[in-house]
Amino acid sequence: MFAASRRSQRILVGAVVLLATWVVVLVTPLKDMLALTGVLNDAVPAASAEHPVDPDKGYYLEELGGGAWFVSGWSHNTMFVVTSESVVVLDAPPSLGEAYLDAVAEVTDKPVSHLIYSHSHADHIGRADLFPDATVVAHERTAEILAERQDPKRRAPGVTFSDRHTLTVGGVRIELANYGPAHGPGNIAVYLPEQKVLSMIDIAFPKWIPVHEFAIAEDIDAYFQVYDHLLAYEFDHFIGGHANLGTYEDLEEQRDYVLDVRQAARTAVGEAPLDKIGQMQRWTPNPFVTANFGFERMTARCADIVEDKWEGRLAAVDVFTSSHCRRMVFYWFTD
Ligand SMILES: [Zn+2]
Repeated sequence: MFAASRRSQRILVGAVVLLATWVVVLVTPLKDMLALTGVLNDAVPAASAEHPVDPDKGYYLEELGGGAWFVSGWSHNTMFVVTSESVVVLDAPPSLGEAYLDAVAEVTDKPVSHLIYSHSHADHIGRADLFPDATVVAHERTAEILAERQDPKRRAPGVTFSDRHTLTVGGVRIELANYGPAHGPGNIAVYLPEQKVLSMIDIAFPKWIPVHEFAIAEDIDAYFQVYDHLLAYEFDHFIGGHANLGTYEDLEEQRDYVLDVRQAARTAVGEAPLDKIGQMQRWTPNPFVTANFGFERMTARCADIVEDKWEGRLAAVDVFTSSHCRRMVFYWFTD
């Protein structure tokens, strides 16, 4: 009798464990799929809605004046300028691909004479092979990186510079400048003074927030400093490589957001009981787990401060603020 009841108990426990396992197996991918759709996230503010890409053409095109055009694929944005002689294009994103050629052909039949590399990253210049006859202009660090990569779709630049370089093509002046590795080595600002158009790729994401860790900024000090350099230009249009076509005010707003992250992380680190976390490490079997707990608590505190202020103003605040906070928590922790 006793043995039989023990056995039925074991069967019952086994069935419950099996059922629970299946619930986890089934529900976890469902939750992940739901998370991927974004239904669990804050709604995108109406003002942040991106320009509509024509699904048949595969691009969105907008005239900025003075021969300058904003062009966007599904995820990457760039620009080109039609001069009295030829066309100068910025970057060659694979996500835009051959649609870039169609976009240029929609407004001019002049040849593309110059291709400017904003930086070395393949997601922005990985289809440079689409413009085989163009002279490639880039920063010298970009040339060094590409020399190592030996990627036939990102050929070596024909013209390089170290600090500043002015390109004048068919009467259009294009000013290029490097302000350190704010995103990666060799990333440059591209400015059309007559058209009042400024581009710097992978720094600011107009009406959204930067992706992971300030768009994987190589040098966090250079990242914060670059906003002062960019806001010193006079411009009406800003092209950041992703999100929306921006304005001067959008760039100011993005600077305010990142400065808030910087300050909130400093506050979170200042408030954290670092001595107590240090003592806790002595009696835990894995002190790294305790350390990580401390860093994650500081990150969460920073994100709370920033999200309270910015949710509803910029899109994706609930998606990437934590990663920015985590980067800045480590920055201040070691400062
Ligand atoms: Zn990049």
